[in-house]
Amino acid sequence: MKIGILGAGQLGRMLALAGYPLGLKFRFLDTAPGSPAGELAEQIVANYDDLRALNRFAEGLDVITYEFENVPVETVQFLEKYCPVFPPPGALEAAQDRVVEKSLFVKLGIPTPKFYSINSLDELLENLEKLQYPSILKTRRMGYDGKGQSVIRSAEDAVIAWNDVAGVPSILEQFIPFQRELSMLSIRSKTGDIRFYPLVENHHREGILRLSLAPAPNMTDSLQAEAEGYALKLLKELNYVGILAIEFFEYEDSGNGKLIANEMAPRVHNSGHLTQDGAVTSQFENHLRAILGLPLGSTAVNGYAAMVNLIGNVPNSEDVLSVPEAKLHLYGKTARPGRKLGHINLRSDSAEKLKAGVDSVQKLLG
Ligand code: AMP
Repeated sequence: MKIGILGAGQLGRMLALAGYPLGLKFRFLDTAPGSPAGELAEQIVANYDDLRALNRFAEGLDVITYEFENVPVETVQFLEKYCPVFPPPGALEAAQDRVVEKSLFVKLGIPTPKFYSINSLDELLENLEKLQYPSILKTRRMGYDGKGQSVIRSAEDAVIAWNDVAGVPSILEQFIPFQRELSMLSIRSKTGDIRFYPLVENHHREGILRLSLAPAPNMTDSLQAEAEGYALKLLKELNYVGILAIEFFEYEDSGNGKLIANEMAPRVHNSGHLTQDGAVTSQFENHLRAILGLPLGSTAVNGYAAMVNLIGNVPNSEDVLSVPEAKLHLYGKTARPGRKLGHINLRSDSAEKLKAGVDSVQKLLG
């Protein structure tokens, strides 16, 4: 079986690494030469709207998937003429536009921050009065890792924020004073089989994920059930196939349950990297199983698992590997400030030992 992947970054690379033991073959398409997945498999370098390149890419493939959500929907629709493309374009369309995404949450009864679609400074000032301060202005499209967004605390901030988003179509959101951030990785196979990973607790700094812990500390069955219920609604509504990640805020006063959905990603997700060494079946392997219609693997986490992202620079490998149970995953990328270069997974039978391991690894990051 040969799988085509749009995007040849680290997520694509880890999909291929998970697929080789299953005897799968891969072909990538990315605009950048020398991408992390290009070291492992055939890579076509072309723009996503280059129809001749898309023809070459699709030739002989059994199924196509993507590793980032900003792939043009038209590209996916064009490729569907050749073979199935999963997750389905409807999921991609929703995830690419924060207003469409949050409207879908509302339609399905999934709690989400109050929001307004914003197309002008006047509209921004008018709706700020309804939401009050602080609020958050984000671009509707192409935002990631906190980019293209700012917190508004006053009318003066509003003018600055509108200039920051360069006047592009945006969304104004109610600011949620959340207790913590959690994510749910769910999976639906082509055959309709559905599984859920345990909730993951995520810690960000400067808008970038730094640390993930699973199962989320102090997690209860009811919190897990609440997240699974929301994920199930999305999987069914979108006729979804593959891994779906949903990011939540946990907020005691949300009224209806404790979770508020911030956004979703129709792809394997950074907060799921710990499943490589901490779960029976990694998110990468399960994504491949799902899009091929193979039986899904167990999503159980073995004891306690953590992931520490390596951002901007990479510590000495010998130091990392001297931490018991630390597993190093490097993406083969050149170091640059703010760039995700790799991650370290840890797994332990005790939460205390896991914490000690995470502390040791974090000290190496400086
Ligand atoms: P996003 O790009 O939507 O994932 O936002 C990046 C980060 O900004 C999130 O991980 C949160 O820490 C914070 N954030 C985003 N939206 C809100 C909100 N409505 N209320 C409070 N914090 C938010």
